[in-house]
Amino acid sequence: MIGFACLLIGLALTEHTQDPFGQSQLEEPISSVPQIRLIHRDWGNACPLDVERLLTSVTKDLFPLTGKKNWNSILVGKSSTGPIVLFQRGKKGEYLVNLNANDQFWCRYAFQFAHEIGHIICGFNERSHGNLWFEESICEVFSLYALHSLSDRWERCPPYPNWQEYAQEFSKYAEKRMTRHSLTEGKKFSDWYRKNVHSLSMDSSNHSGHSKIATKLYPLFRSNAHSWSSCVYLNDQNATESKNFRNYLLDWKENCPKPEQKKFVNQILDLFDLWSSKE
Ligand SMILES: [Zn+2]
Repeated sequence: MIGFACLLIGLALTEHTQDPFGQSQLEEPISSVPQIRLIHRDWGNACPLDVERLLTSVTKDLFPLTGKKNWNSILVGKSSTGPIVLFQRGKKGEYLVNLNANDQFWCRYAFQFAHEIGHIICGFNERSHGNLWFEESICEVFSLYALHSLSDRWERCPPYPNWQEYAQEFSKYAEKRMTRHSLTEGKKFSDWYRKNVHSLSMDSSNHSGHSKIATKLYPLFRSNAHSWSSCVYLNDQNATESKNFRNYLLDWKENCPKPEQKKFVNQILDLFDLWSSKE
């Protein structure tokens, strides 16, 4: 989810960043893997250091996939509603992400944080558009990927030896979501899309729809090494008017600098059955 920063939340975030961690800690150099800073210390029975290590691990799994460097740091706070990345930035340009997770529900932290990282990688912006549902679906693909990666990582190298048994919980969490949101056998995805495109456009909180699309996109992303890096070019930062989904995808393709990334967007166009002739 992305959203407008509540002014009060924003002010609270700014104040917190100056208090527990000190100004000097905000002066990290921009990097290919952003620094993570927790700006809340109370995560229930989870040790803040463990939360930070988990989130850092997700960061290390996702950002290098993009090939892009110079990502700003991410400040992580808590949300009493849904997880969110704020349009507002920190004083040093940091991304502000709030999670709605607590205690040692590691799957939830990972799922939510990876989703918000997805928005950051996709270049989320305030210009609300009718294609936000597609960005939301891609963000869920990032979450599914992060969960599987954490599963492998904790299997090989758990943060603590007795946590290794938790490793498979990440992939189980992902598989369960994908099973729940798979299309009924025999149904064509593009038919489902045509039937639902209007409601997807009108309601960017159609989580079930996003999960269905993510379940379909996930194998496509996994099978194409350039899929992740293409997401950096999804949102045209100079766009001033809304576009239909087909034009949104064609512009995405246009923005991608590498032929392999353009090919990946072609695969998306194919999946949604949005054109008949390939360039
Ligand atoms: Zn989102």
